[in-house]
Amino acid sequence: MPETSSRDTIFAAGLLLPVSSPAIREGAVLVRDGHIAAIGGLSELAHENAEVEIRYFPRCAIIPGAVNAHAHLGFRRGDGPEGGSFARWLGNLIKRLPEKETWTAEAARNCAREAIEAGTTFMAESSPYGECLPQLAESGMAGIVYAEFFPHEIGDGTPEEAVEFILEKAHSLREGLPERVESHISVHSPYTVDPESARLAARRTREVGDRLAIHLSESPEEVEFVRDGTGPLTNIFANNDWGGVGLSPVRYAESIELLAPQTIAAHLATGVSEEDVEVLAHSGVAVAHCPRSNEFLGCGVSPVPRMMECGIRVGMGTDGLWSSPSLNLFEETLFAVKLHGLSGAAGLRLATLGGAQALGIEGAAGSIEAGKWADLAIVESPPEGGDSEREVLEAAAAGGVLATVVSGNLIYNRAEG
Ligand SMILES: [Zn+2]
Repeated sequence: MPETSSRDTIFAAGLLLPVSSPAIREGAVLVRDGHIAAIGGLSELAHENAEVEIRYFPRCAIIPGAVNAHAHLGFRRGDGPEGGSFARWLGNLIKRLPEKETWTAEAARNCAREAIEAGTTFMAESSPYGECLPQLAESGMAGIVYAEFFPHEIGDGTPEEAVEFILEKAHSLREGLPERVESHISVHSPYTVDPESARLAARRTREVGDRLAIHLSESPEEVEFVRDGTGPLTNIFANNDWGGVGLSPVRYAESIELLAPQTIAAHLATGVSEEDVEVLAHSGVAVAHCPRSNEFLGCGVSPVPRMMECGIRVGMGTDGLWSSPSLNLFEETLFAVKLHGLSGAAGLRLATLGGAQALGIEGAAGSIEAGKWADLAIVESPPEGGDSEREVLEAAAAGGVLATVVSGNLIYNRAEG
């Protein structure tokens, strides 16, 4: 009989969907020291581990926790700028930045809670200078905060000074963080960060083995700014005079060395040609797909099925509450499933293992597999019918998450409030 400890737990339910292996009826997950020690049938695992406490969830499915590959925590629900036009929305958002400071922390706490109650176990968050890191770190989720920087705000505005400042900031934020929370940097976008600062940031992160996040090819206005140097983004934040390079945003990002395997690029919604998809695939960059934000801001539809065919790593992202109706990653994914005509299984994979692969953490999270962290979402879902993955995704999208487990800890259990 295997050695057990008081910290062992068996989580079990009518259906276990590990994502990386076939479904198991009356399935169970043996958790030891925060990690998955074994998966299998409940009767078998219970028999082999007779001393271990069993938490059985009847009429439920256990799935991997959602991996949100692109989110912003610092926006509150209900009073965001109106959508329809990306540039107008962003202009209104920027006008409200001073006011936002008074409630960002509260919004971040609420958003993190909302994500957890929707089964999210890992979140990649981007916020100015990493301002939402404390709320992510205390939430119980695992994750990465990408500290955005805006070079014109820093010192005398030289690329070297701006990049060293933000790298030091991201590194200093690492002190005292929980084991599975990291801080890295984000080159916010082609229209807010000048090309030399962006290039230098990409090089420096590679030198020190850090990760990088960017927004890329999100809106028609961004395409116009990069290609022609005209349109409303030329003076959105500071005086941006580096546009007009005659390239697509993807080609531009390639030219300034932003595209690489440790980079995750959010959106890729507008102006992504077949040639751009090839550039993305060749570079090894990963993509975060945020279809509800894209629709709200008039940014078109990302060619995600084509990207996936080309072997590009794609995860799902909710973006933030000012461009998206919720932090429920399963709801975001169901939207993508309908938008692109994907199968339920493809959707469940995108929401979990796909996000983990996009973020380069698939060795430790994203599926229910021995050796990985025990990150689970437990979803109320009758284990009947034909397409289990689709049914579970629909249930999770509609508020059916009953419990959320991160590193083996039950951080949310609706039954216990
Ligand atoms: Zn974003």
